[in-house]
Formats: sequence, structure tokens, C-alpha cells
Amino acid sequence: MKQVFTTRVTEGLGIEHPIIQGGMMWVSQPELVAAVSEAGGLGVLTALTFETPEGLADAISRTRALTKRPFGVNLTFLPTLVPKDYGSLIDVIVEEGVGIVETAGRNPEPYMERIKAGGAQVIHKCTSVRFAKKAEAIGCDYVSIDGCECAGHPGEDDITSLVLIPLTADAVEIPLIASGGFADARGLVAALALGAEAMNLGTRFVATKESPAHINVKNWLVEASETDTMFVMRSLRNTERVLRNEVAEKVVELESQGAGIAELAPLVSGKNGLRMLKDGEIEIGLMPAGQSVGLVRDIPTVSELVNTIMEEAEGIAGGRLEGMRV
Ligand code: NAD
Repeated sequence: MKQVFTTRVTEGLGIEHPIIQGGMMWVSQPELVAAVSEAGGLGVLTALTFETPEGLADAISRTRALTKRPFGVNLTFLPTLVPKDYGSLIDVIVEEGVGIVETAGRNPEPYMERIKAGGAQVIHKCTSVRFAKKAEAIGCDYVSIDGCECAGHPGEDDITSLVLIPLTADAVEIPLIASGGFADARGLVAALALGAEAMNLGTRFVATKESPAHINVKNWLVEASETDTMFVMRSLRNTERVLRNEVAEKVVELESQGAGIAELAPLVSGKNGLRMLKDGEIEIGLMPAGQSVGLVRDIPTVSELVNTIMEEAEGIAGGRLEGMRV
């Protein structure tokens, strides 16, 4: 698919299309990441998925064997049940010469010097205008701004992308990536109109052929509607948007009775999430998904998905919108 749009994000990251695959725990594996980069977008590995520095180094090598195009590595700073060795993961990122790092969650400032020492560009994914301004102030190169429609951790402010993206565009100079609620060409053109220069897709990429998720999970996404997600862990101020199932309902019930992380851990643990994704046991844990799940209706290959989005986006921008001009 020929290039349709050029933006500061496509130029800066060296990619053809303004489509970024968000870092997703367990899902962002080399095959998916390389497929996104090969299709002209930016694939992003998730460092915590590989648990050890050696595991991350191996994943970077496997991705490089599959694509010569740019890809990134995500580092998420959020509470975890078992402490993570961020320093060693960053050492691998620097030693391997990873050119693009997506940080997410808490302020990456304590790690910026080490990440930047390796020459990487930093995309910081965050959920409010004030965090975006902070990201710019500490030297991040891009902000990925996450409306509350998003999968996983939307923050605590519940501001939708329609409001959050233009407000952030007004507040920072660095290029924006629109995240949360995006799944198709209409979302891409809307993101560009709102002031972003690329869109981030998470949930949409889980339901692709190259995604490592079990077919039961992919079918669950295809069948789910936009009303089938819910928030858990709001009482811990670590809100997560997940697909509605018995475990998610149980977590909210326990929270209403005052349960803390110790009681919730057996239900919310990422280890259950891994079993869901690997073995297809979709009732045993939490599955992060955004409201955009309502727009996920098929399981294409990554290149089919990216090409369709770009063809349709060209049709919307150059056809539908152009046709409305007087
Ligand atoms: P985990 O098994 O360590 O924790 C499971 C869940 O409980 C996570 O949501 C975590 O943030 C939360 N949690 C853990 N300890 C907590 C505490 N003390 N207080 C409040 N909440 C607590 O997590 P994991 O599955 O191994 O994932 C590792 C990291 O990646 C976590 O920080 C997780 O939140 C994050 N993650 C992010 C996304 C995303 O949307 N980007 C998706 C999945 C996981």
C-alpha cells in the first residue's frame, strides 16, 4: 500500500503509515510486532512480557530476524504484584540499540537519562493533559494520549479521546499519537483532524491472524459489543478497562466490600491473563479491551488490516470530506 499521509510521527519514526501497535502485555510478541512494522506501521514489543533481560534480548533478536523496519519496545511503569527489574530491561534496550521506546504509566523521568543515553526516541503514553505537558518537559519526543475508551489503564479522570486529544494538541508542541477508541480508518482520519499525527491500535491488533492470542480470545473480541467492557480496580486508583466476565464482576463485588490488592491478586494476576491468551480459558482472569472492541468484527492479517485502513482513510479524506467542501 502506497503512503497516504506524511506527518511528524511517520517522518520521525521512519514509518510509512501513521499506525502504531500499542504495547500489550503478553500479546506484543515478535511475530505480531514484525507484521505491523512490515505492513508500514510501528510494531511495539512489551518488555515486561519477557520477564527477564535475556528474554527481552531474545525477543528483540527474533523481531529483527523478521523485519528490517523500525519497531519499538514498551516499558510500563505501574504497580505489579512482583517487583520488576526495570534497570536491567533498560540496559538491554540500550545495549541492543533499540531506536524507539514507548513508556507508559507512571512518570518515566527517573529512567529518561538511561533510555536517552542509548539514542532512543521516547514516546510517552499517558492519560491526561498535565501528564502530557510533563512528558514534553522531561524530553519525551512524542506523547501518546490515551482517552478513557482505551483498553487496560485509562487513568482516573475519564476524559474521552474526543476532548482529550485536542486539549493535548493545544498544550504541547511535540507530536501526538491518538490512543483509546481507535480501530479503523474513520478513527484515523478523526485522530488527524483532532490534532494527532498518528493513531495507536491495541484491541484491534489482538484480533489479527499474527496475534498470539488464542482463537477463543479473538472470537470473544469479534462477538463483544461496545458495551461489553467494564472498569475494575478503581478503588485502588489503578483502574483497568477489561472485557466483562465473571472474574471482572467478582473483582468489582469484592472492591465494593473493601477488598485490597492482597485479596484481589488471585483474580487480577497477569498470570491468569497469560493462561487466557495462551490456552483460551476466557473465564479465568481479566482481558484488557477498549470500547473499540465494538468495531472489531473480523480477524484479518495485519497487512490486510493496515491496507484496508489506509485505503479507506484515503477515501474518507480525499473523497467523502473533500466532496463535502463547497
Ligand atoms: P501483575 O500480575 O503484577 O498485576 C495484575 C494487575 O494488578 C495489574 O493491573 C497491576 O497493575 C495490578 N496491581 C498489582 N499490584 C498492585 C498494587 N499494589 N496496587 C494496585 N494495583 C496493583 O501484572 P502483569 O499482568 O504482570 O502486568 C505487568 C504490568 O503491565 C502491570 O503494571 C500491568 O498493569 C501492566 N499492564 C498494562 C496493560 C496496558 O493496558 N498497557 C495491560 C496489561 C498489563
